[in-house]
Amino acid sequence: MKSAFEAAEQYFAEAASVLDLSSSMRTLLMTPEREIKVQVPVKLDNGEIATFVGYRMQHNSARGPMKGGLRYHHEVNADEVLALASLMTWKTAVVDIPFGGAKGGISVNTKELSIDELERLTRRFVDELHDLFGPDKDIPAPDMGTNAQTMAWIMNQYEKFHGFSPACVTGKPVELYGAEGREEATGRGVGALTLATLRRCRRPIEASTIAIQGFGNVGTFTAAYLEKAGTRIVAISDVSGGVLNRSGIDVSAALDWVRSAGSLTGFSGGERISNDEILALDVDVLIPAALGGVLTHENAKDVRAKMIVEAANGPVTPEADAIFRQREIPVLPDILANAGGVTVSYFEWVQNQQYFRWDLRRVREELEKSLTRGFDRVWATAEEKKVPLRTAAYLLAIGRVGRAEILGGI
Ligand code: NAD
Repeated sequence: MKSAFEAAEQYFAEAASVLDLSSSMRTLLMTPEREIKVQVPVKLDNGEIATFVGYRMQHNSARGPMKGGLRYHHEVNADEVLALASLMTWKTAVVDIPFGGAKGGISVNTKELSIDELERLTRRFVDELHDLFGPDKDIPAPDMGTNAQTMAWIMNQYEKFHGFSPACVTGKPVELYGAEGREEATGRGVGALTLATLRRCRRPIEASTIAIQGFGNVGTFTAAYLEKAGTRIVAISDVSGGVLNRSGIDVSAALDWVRSAGSLTGFSGGERISNDEILALDVDVLIPAALGGVLTHENAKDVRAKMIVEAANGPVTPEADAIFRQREIPVLPDILANAGGVTVSYFEWVQNQQYFRWDLRRVREELEKSLTRGFDRVWATAEEKKVPLRTAAYLLAIGRVGRAEILGGI
């Protein structure tokens, strides 16, 4: 299986060929502006010192300050962070928000640290990087293993060096300069774009069946949005396995169950299925919303969904993508499908810069407007150039970043 970075390079290369991009422009766009690897030592509660490795990959700033999440996970490595940083460059460009792309992370198992240790880890990471962060330079956000509390620590530590600066980070608690609607934004965006895809494929919303792998932040808000829109959520899953109910799962009952029991294990709203089985269900839309690399050359032939919406980052490997193209199963690519989160992060940054707060209704309206505009452009490009949706999204994104590079000059 290709690494995350090789996959990102392949999708870039495909679109670059359609655009007939010069090799010098290809090199400029694929070379990260800055790769940072730092030592992050932390004094543990027992007095010992533990040393971790942190990364920040600043991929491209041609269209604006760099933007991207900060991941705390024991498998974080330079290759993966770099791949995710380049995805952020194309993601911000495809929905046309004025940011570039970056990503960061610390290789750490958060379950092994206390809350105080996590706070010290985060503050020390900011001590190392604060000169490279900033509202007009590089703006972190939550990702796997980090949350609104982590962002509050980052803001507080950054301000010790640079003074009051709420726009230095997004995904903050709503009480501390965060935006209404940030938590739901990615799932809501996935839901809205799934409906848009169904409409374009001339499938009736009411009769459509949906399977969602992953019932965390993205999966739950996606499920709730699509259930309310009238589709039938026939299967959901989390790390503990899945549940299938052909007459429709009661999403709020499943949510209540997971809130109290911690996982879908024991939920009685359907029959148990495995995480492999959910990927092969005969449904209208399959939404992988958990991990990357779940649809591969080995299981792509078993997929019976009529379309796939990539809510997670990179759930379809390039080999599986080729099989879906051959089988004419449309795949709505991650850089568009899950761009709702970064879009509302942009709204948070705008509000922080203006010291002005939008209400939830405004956030939702602006989000749908922004994503629908991006979707319509991608769809039109796919039709015009006769390319898959993923290539179309990359064509638009690379075109925008490339033009910014040329207009700005070096
Ligand atoms: P989360 O941690 O809230 O939820 C992850 C879910 O996946 C959980 O239900 C977990 O049980 C499940 N899961 C974990 N391992 C699994 C496995 N092996 N099989 C099946 N399910 C498994 O994470 P999230 O924020 O919902 O993010 C999900 C995906 O979406 C990630 O790929 C993330 O990078 C991507 N994403 C998230 C956002 C966001 O704003 N949260 C934005 C863009 C992309």
